[in-house]
Amino acid sequence: MRQRLSVETYAKGILSGDRTTLSRAITIIESSLAGDRALASQILQNILPHTGKSIRIGITGVPGVGKSTFIEAFGSYLTSLGKRVAVLAVDPSSKQSGGSILGDKTRMEKLSRDPNAYIRPSPTNLSLGGVARHTREAILLCEAAGYDLILVETVGVGQSETLVKGMTDFFLLLMLAGAGDELQGIKKGIMEMVDAVAVNKADSGNERAVAKAVTEYRQALHLFPETASKIPVQVVACSALEGTGMAPIWNIISDYHAQTSASGYLQENRRLQRIDWLREQILQSLEDRFYENELVKQRIASEDEAVRSGEKLPDEAASDLINLFLSSEQPSKFSAKS
Ligand code: GDP
Repeated sequence: MRQRLSVETYAKGILSGDRTTLSRAITIIESSLAGDRALASQILQNILPHTGKSIRIGITGVPGVGKSTFIEAFGSYLTSLGKRVAVLAVDPSSKQSGGSILGDKTRMEKLSRDPNAYIRPSPTNLSLGGVARHTREAILLCEAAGYDLILVETVGVGQSETLVKGMTDFFLLLMLAGAGDELQGIKKGIMEMVDAVAVNKADSGNERAVAKAVTEYRQALHLFPETASKIPVQVVACSALEGTGMAPIWNIISDYHAQTSASGYLQENRRLQRIDWLREQILQSLEDRFYENELVKQRIASEDEAVRSGEKLPDEAASDLINLFLSSEQPSKFSAKS
């Protein structure tokens, strides 16, 4: 195991904006070793007063829509304004397949060389719930390290949007022109979550198709209920490849941030997000402890089999396992990050 430093050393390094220390601290929050969990918890506690000042932006869209290219262009635009930008990812695929839909982040070559940008790939070998928890913590670390904008990238499939929506202030959906009414495989549920839609690949020469798509999406969005923030969803065009349309997108996001800060919606939304995080954490901790229990481990295969064959109802098998768990649990305390 790599040498660990003291809590103070991590906290000091992060607060001074040192990227190596930030990376090492994120590695610790992603680690499942018991010693690291305790250390991670202390580091987070230490930096907590310095968190919360960034704008947290979720970015989604189907594979191939241009998310990486967009983040490269948008991130570079933001650093040109003197902003510091951190890029995190929530990729549900990396666990099962070993590969990732979001792909290799070295594609963001220019941004990764930018001293005002920090790029961290999705944690691997974790459940989606685990990825979400660690990404939330990574957001806090990046904020303490002084990043003004945190971009959290995810894919337009599965539950990952809901998770990213639950940890960000603003949710941007990238779409393509000319893909018809099918919403390009993007589920209706996702359209209900977004704060803005950017029609990408609006390259020069493609203006007409893009203008048509922008109008269509605007019309389609009228059919959706009002957003929780009550701020209308904006639809704009951009070309990540040519780097155009970045300023309007930034204006939408900064206006949104100003309006929601003034109205108190931003703070209220974050309060609700913290409560959701707490609820998820309770479930996750109980679940981990349940499946790590020795008696449960011994019995679970036979209960699975009884349910699979139809001999026993799931409800009954669950009660038996939970009772076994409760009767065998030592009254030892849960520790943070367990
Ligand atoms: P992701 O899977 O959503 O991350 O998409 P990528 O960023 O990897 O982009 C997929 C492909 O679309 C790549 O070949 C990009 O070069 C291309 N691409 C991305 N943005 C644009 C754009 O604005 N215009 C054009 N013409 N191609 C783009």
